Amino acid sequence: MTFRNLNELELKGHRVFLRADLNVPISDGEIKDATRITETMATLKFILEQGASVVLCSHLGRPEGVGFEAPYSMAPVAAWLEDKEGLDCRLASAVTGEEVEREATALKSGQVLLLENLRFDKGETKNKPEFCSALARLADTYVNDAFGSAHREHASVAGVVPLFPKDRVAAGFLMEKELKALGTVTHNPKKPLVAVMGGAKVSDKIDLIRNFLGKADAILIGGAMSYTLLKAQGISIGKSRCEEDKLELASEILAEAKEKGTRLLLPLDHVVAPEFKADSPATVTDGIAIPDGQMGLDIGPETIAGYMEEIKNAKTLIWNGPMGVFEMDAFATGTLTIAEEMAKASDQQAFVLVGGGDSVAAVNKAKVAHRISHISTGGGASLEFLSGIQLPGVKALEV
Ligand code: AMP
Repeated sequence: MTFRNLNELELKGHRVFLRADLNVPISDGEIKDATRITETMATLKFILEQGASVVLCSHLGRPEGVGFEAPYSMAPVAAWLEDKEGLDCRLASAVTGEEVEREATALKSGQVLLLENLRFDKGETKNKPEFCSALARLADTYVNDAFGSAHREHASVAGVVPLFPKDRVAAGFLMEKELKALGTVTHNPKKPLVAVMGGAKVSDKIDLIRNFLGKADAILIGGAMSYTLLKAQGISIGKSRCEEDKLELASEILAEAKEKGTRLLLPLDHVVAPEFKADSPATVTDGIAIPDGQMGLDIGPETIAGYMEEIKNAKTLIWNGPMGVFEMDAFATGTLTIAEEMAKASDQQAFVLVGGGDSVAAVNKAKVAHRISHISTGGGASLEFLSGIQLPGVKALEV
């Protein structure tokens, strides 16, 4: 995976098409959390400081794709860039078109033109050639900083890229940071490599597990997906969540793990309750089986102790998916303890990568996010990358 870095590009006097992730939560025209804007500022400001102008763009929410819709307008983002970041930024009159081309051509160095929401035009999500060409006409240089959108075959991250000269295409700083961190885990990671995987469904994580069989020294499984794997081995799981149609697949994975020499660890005990409710009386099972009438909602203390030991000994760790129903306090101990142990490993120089929406929420809940080596901003994109799937937005940047 080789791509051009932003600081390898001559930028002075150029007009740069910057695809960023500015998909911030907005209600009543007000930005509720500007994290995504802030995260891409290093890239944006660097380009401007080099004496270039920027045609900036992003999607925002899920408009219909049939034209302008006020609740999804980029106007609040343009205002934020002017007022809070002090940039010389104006909002384009549309996404593409002759008027927008005039606005782009009029840009002077140091100025930003923010395009309207890319998804106002169906051409974006459908990766339509005419839309790609219309975007490409707006600038001479292409920079992608939107890692979180790299798994989508959309115009602004995929189709438009080959329309720029190969030597005028680069990854932004945020994209570069993500790709380097993910690369640390997938290409020659320091061993032992331990992957912690949890969450609701085996079916969502099959590719992820498979991609680490033979690569990871151990995979520690938690969350509801462990019950499908336990049941596949003939262990009683009471009324725990289970994907009956995936039992065969679960058996295959267990066999494949043995064959490829990766230890696939499943919970040895569980926190159970009769109902999926925050106040349902929680007890710890005596061993691996779950009694009838009970459902597994978190990993138990013996499991936690075993997993902590594995995490302590690892040099590279990835984590995707919670160990239990961490949204409910009674079933959050497994997830929060693993989060703390991940932070300790990171303090001790192990490389720890946390990816996927819910595990990011878990490290935030455990208040250890600042201690983790790398937290991936793109949930879907990092899951696909770690599953060994080539991301269209990354492939497009390859030199
Ligand atoms: P995912 O999006 O696949 O990572 O799954 C995350 C969701 O799985 C969270 O909302 C958890 O509450 C849920 N989850 C984790 N463990 C369990 C469990 N034992 N039973 C039911 N849901 C669970």
